[in-house]
Amino acid sequence: MKNDPTIPSDARFETRAIHIGQDWRSETGAVIPPIYMTSTFETGNPGGFDYTRSGNPNYRNLQATLASLENAKHATVFASGVSSITAIVFSLKAGDTIVSEQNIYGATYRLFERVLRRFGIRIEYLDLAEPENHGRIAAMKPALVWLESPTNPLLKILDIRAIADAAHSAGSTVAMDNTFASSLLQQPLDLGADLSQLSTTKYTNGHSDCLGGVVCTNSDEWQEKMIFAQKALGLQPSPFDAWLVSRGTKTQAVRMRQHCDNALELARRLESRRGVKSVRHPFLPSHPQHELAKKQMRGGSGMMLADFGLSYDDTLKFIRRLRLFTQAESLGGIESLVAHPASMTHASIPKETREATGITDGLVRFSVGIEHVEDLWNDIEQALHGG
Ligand SMILES: *Cc1c(COP(=O)(O)O)cnc(C)c1O
Repeated sequence: MKNDPTIPSDARFETRAIHIGQDWRSETGAVIPPIYMTSTFETGNPGGFDYTRSGNPNYRNLQATLASLENAKHATVFASGVSSITAIVFSLKAGDTIVSEQNIYGATYRLFERVLRRFGIRIEYLDLAEPENHGRIAAMKPALVWLESPTNPLLKILDIRAIADAAHSAGSTVAMDNTFASSLLQQPLDLGADLSQLSTTKYTNGHSDCLGGVVCTNSDEWQEKMIFAQKALGLQPSPFDAWLVSRGTKTQAVRMRQHCDNALELARRLESRRGVKSVRHPFLPSHPQHELAKKQMRGGSGMMLADFGLSYDDTLKFIRRLRLFTQAESLGGIESLVAHPASMTHASIPKETREATGITDGLVRFSVGIEHVEDLWNDIEQALHGG
């Protein structure tokens, strides 16, 4: 590698502007690896890099970290969570069937319905939180079974082990969106999934300042497909974003523990507060799949739902009175966010259909941040009291 190229002494301004001052690119003793903002690499370099669409030192660093955190042999990073889902589903072919949990992330549903269907892929939805539906998977002969747990926004918990067993007996690949749980709290591959996919935009990066995605697997065959998809579909992240996610990953464990503690504490207090209709968090004993959550997760994560029994308008007024919770989509950042599914993510669904699936007008989704829990509680109290 020409780390310290000798520049001809008569090189012109234009040439010197590009070639002088390119030292210190490696073996500097820097504690944190630098950001390799380069599109291409000199042929024959020892790392085997050629072009950033198919590999970059910042991807390799992040992939090594995330594979390790997911107990996986391999990991491939992508530009966003949706890119990582695209990499998986575009490894299928026309005529294949996906059996999917019905309560999935909106962008995943949109990709399935409005893009994949046009390419001749069939998608069947089941409520996979109901164990009697596991037995229906085999008859559909899916190439892929798509899981998410906890689900968005209802925080249903799926029995990953049981579903993986049912899917494997039909010869299917099981993919699991691990975004809501995070790599710290849940290891899908250890529970039987073949692919663990995350939007690293959320808890992995944790600072709401970039997008990213990853697919982790123990299968050499699927790893080849992921590397191929990264390169052939152009789904690669920017080296800077990969570097940011690497930085976020270093503090993930301490952040996650605080997210879990804060969300569970707020959920407990809300549950015993008069007038609150329902509260949901996987580690509250009242959660319908609480035992299962405790079996397959190390913590309940930072997402919490509450139905204050208010009308559509009063729920929005409550949300606007909150000062520490910003009304926004997304989740998993250090700062607390609040969302109103009925007017935001699920606004296009007719009210009756929405309510039938549990998305009531009074339902509020909290992404609980890592601020002090007493300040968060006081904020909810003042907003409920009318500001
Ligand atoms: C955010 C999210 C995605 C999409 O990820 P992006 O990084 O926004 O593309 C997919 N699944 C879940 C569960 C998510 O929360």
